[in-house]
Amino acid sequence: MHKGQAKKELKKQLSALFKSMDYISKNFLDSEKMGKKELQIFFNIYQQLGLAWEFLGLQCKHWDGYKKTRDKKETCKICGKVKGANDFYILLTRKGPIKLGVKVKPSSKKTFETKENAQIVNETIDFYGALVNVDVHHSYKSRLFGKGINMAAERIVNVKEENVECSIDEHLIHIRLRDKDRKAGGKRYGGFPWEIKKKDLKHFPVIFDFDEKYRFLGLTILK
Ligand SMILES: [Zn+2]
Repeated sequence: MHKGQAKKELKKQLSALFKSMDYISKNFLDSEKMGKKELQIFFNIYQQLGLAWEFLGLQCKHWDGYKKTRDKKETCKICGKVKGANDFYILLTRKGPIKLGVKVKPSSKKTFETKENAQIVNETIDFYGALVNVDVHHSYKSRLFGKGINMAAERIVNVKEENVECSIDEHLIHIRLRDKDRKAGGKRYGGFPWEIKKKDLKHFPVIFDFDEKYRFLGLTILK
């Protein structure tokens, strides 16, 4: 196959593939009503289409050059690949943020016998050096604390960047600074700001954000 024909054929295949990906994404992945099992099937189809896209993209020599995207990257006009990016065999959406998996929350009222059976997802991705973990499980009986402790159903998202760890669940946002110099097993204390003396508070480089009614809006920690 000479160059012109290869390009024409590839363009045709990619354009058909993009239509299929858009169709699945629009009609199924964004559907709120779909059951988990059914959604998983369509998600798998989307993954497989994503894989096909990656493989088709390998044949592209980016003959027509690149166009600038809104976030100032350059993507191939034919295959949509970002200029200079390595090839990964993972699902990448064509537009918008990279999407891996669909959002899951615990849905069962049942308490499962084991953590394994209660687990919905517990996966970690190393994303350009930042670690992201999502742990979603139904309620289960824990043997950790002897007999009879029911662990609540939860969705916990944990992000680790260098020595900072942030954990978010339904009730708490916990930020932990890991200090290499601190010896393991050292004591940790906690308290509301009003419980701590002003002179001690001055050790904490924390700024609170609030509005005119003193509603809490967030906080900043200086490094
Ligand atoms: Zn290309």
